[in-house]
Amino acid sequence: MNREQPSGQRFDDYQAKALERRKAGKVTDNRGAVKKPRQRSFTELFVRFWAMLGTHRPMVVGSLVALSLATLMSLVPLYAPKIVVDYILGDQPMPQWIRDVIPGAGSPKSLLISLVVISVVITAVSVGLGLWARWQNTRVTKRMHVEVRRVLFDQASRLPLHRIIDLKSGGVASLLRDDAAATGDLVFSMIYNPWRAVTQLAGSLVILAWIYWKLLTGGLMVLPLVWFTHRTWIARIRPMWKDIRRTRRDVDAASTEVFGGMRIVRGFNRQRTESTAFMKRNNFMARQELMSWWWMRGVDTAWALLIPVASAALLLYGSIRILDERALVAAGQMAPQDALTIGDLFVFLGYLAALLGPIASLAGTATGLQNALAAMDRVLDILDEPREFDPPANPVLIDPDTVRGQVTLDRVGFAYPKSTKHVLEDVSLVAEPGTTVALVGPSGAGKTTLCNLVARFYDPTAGRVLLDGIDIRDIPVHSYRALLGIVEQDVFLFDGTVSQNIAYGTREATQAQIEQAARQANAHSFIVDLESGYDTMIGERGVKLSGGQRQRLAIARALLSDPRLLILDEATSNLDTESERLIQASLKTLMRGRTSFVIAHRLSTIQHADQILVLNHGGILERGTHDELMAAGGTYRGMIEMQLAPASEPAPA
Ligand code: ADP
Repeated sequence: MNREQPSGQRFDDYQAKALERRKAGKVTDNRGAVKKPRQRSFTELFVRFWAMLGTHRPMVVGSLVALSLATLMSLVPLYAPKIVVDYILGDQPMPQWIRDVIPGAGSPKSLLISLVVISVVITAVSVGLGLWARWQNTRVTKRMHVEVRRVLFDQASRLPLHRIIDLKSGGVASLLRDDAAATGDLVFSMIYNPWRAVTQLAGSLVILAWIYWKLLTGGLMVLPLVWFTHRTWIARIRPMWKDIRRTRRDVDAASTEVFGGMRIVRGFNRQRTESTAFMKRNNFMARQELMSWWWMRGVDTAWALLIPVASAALLLYGSIRILDERALVAAGQMAPQDALTIGDLFVFLGYLAALLGPIASLAGTATGLQNALAAMDRVLDILDEPREFDPPANPVLIDPDTVRGQVTLDRVGFAYPKSTKHVLEDVSLVAEPGTTVALVGPSGAGKTTLCNLVARFYDPTAGRVLLDGIDIRDIPVHSYRALLGIVEQDVFLFDGTVSQNIAYGTREATQAQIEQAARQANAHSFIVDLESGYDTMIGERGVKLSGGQRQRLAIARALLSDPRLLILDEATSNLDTESERLIQASLKTLMRGRTSFVIAHRLSTIQHADQILVLNHGGILERGTHDELMAAGGTYRGMIEMQLAPASEPAPA
């Protein structure tokens, strides 16, 4: 099977689709599916961001004030050429305010020196203030990164399970890393940079109008041009950047998958195929990036041309006006003080650059801003999602010491979110305190789902789950889960020491308690044989444990947290007889006195269960003890006989 087209062909298809969607005005993604555009308006995003800034708001406002001062001060020295050209070098009469304000205005040379000194001082103060403002904003940005990540992590870890499955671990990682960072960067891209541009713009406009308003009207004619470039170019670049982001995510996700499944890749000798596929995806991304380069440079080039062209046009127009007005003044038809001077023209050109510069940089960063807004939109999508469960309206507080541990399922029905299939239907059972309920049945029968409801990973869609007669929806979810111990087939160990992993659910445990739990779980002897005993690092950065050892650590973890209710998913992996025996023994210790739900894969291990439920297609087919079910001679007996028969079909489940 060749699942990847050559990147060139894929790129041609991509271009054709991109053209189509531009014509249709629709936003589509890489795969051609119509995507909903950003739903939130700019104003809404701004208001939400401002709210997110929280306690940082005074600092942001303070730095904006400093920034405005710095920007306006930086405009002052631009006026110096007028004084030099008109009043020092030229023969225009010097206005009284210059004599009043600038020291040394009496002699041309001392006036020149004063001008230079004043310009340098003002520039230095302006740069200093600007630096301070930038530093404060950078600090706020970094704090916002942390803050957004914290809120997002908090929220993501409280989302309903099916949403977490939808998001995939790669998706959460990219949200927490890229999207959260882009959201924090909005301090600059949405507030600081535009504000600087606006003050500079407003400042230069006022000065330009003051010097010679007629020329200003000419300068303002470039503004529609700005709008035009924004509408056309930026609107095209934005979907392109989104596509590139998506391609990058696909490339990342695919390679993560390949490395996660490296054993299979090697087993089927597919390294070369995978590496070719990886290259093709990267080539495709490179082509997309090159295409967007052209559009980006288009904007830059237009601006690079626009500023000199606008300046040249003004130079031409201004010079002609000076010549004409000189003639008018000479003819006595115009008062000399109303005429445009050479100094005016110089200063005008200077301020024009100051006016166009921020517009150019704003246009240049508009794509980045769009990108960051899209990221914030995604962040808000997650933050606005409902959490796992609403807190109960009338919570029933339970005392862990007096909980008896009777679990009742009362006509429970369940369908997974976004699925219409009824995975469980009309299931009723009573698990008396301290007894064991074994669940058997073919794979897909609903055993895991039933345990998920007991663990309250989901709420039933029909019926109720009761603990000691109380609907578990009325018990605050954290206090209910505190009663719960889970040992899963696939034991998850964190990157940390053996002790830390055992004490994961019971942080206050002492070393003695940890060791006692490990002893009861038959894990102590292998732990002390490890390199650094209980302090050995396991997981990602440390030693790898065998399947049986991991199981026993999980059992020790459950023992230490001393739960009232237990959910056990028996390991199906073929353990050797010795570890099997050790695990069975430690499970027995663990289950003593606790209400336990056991998903059994090997029927031999559940013969002593108080109740055995045979599930099929989401309903209870048979129930009873081992002896009762054997005597009844139904499905259970059939399953037992099949497992005992030598060289038979593999056991169901
Ligand atoms: P068992 O543990 O007995 O093998 P499960 O409880 O895992 O069975 O699954 C019961 C049914 O629910 C299966 O048909 C399965 O496809 C479906 N199912 C399991 N998990 C999900 C899920 N997260 N979303 C939708 N359907 C699911």
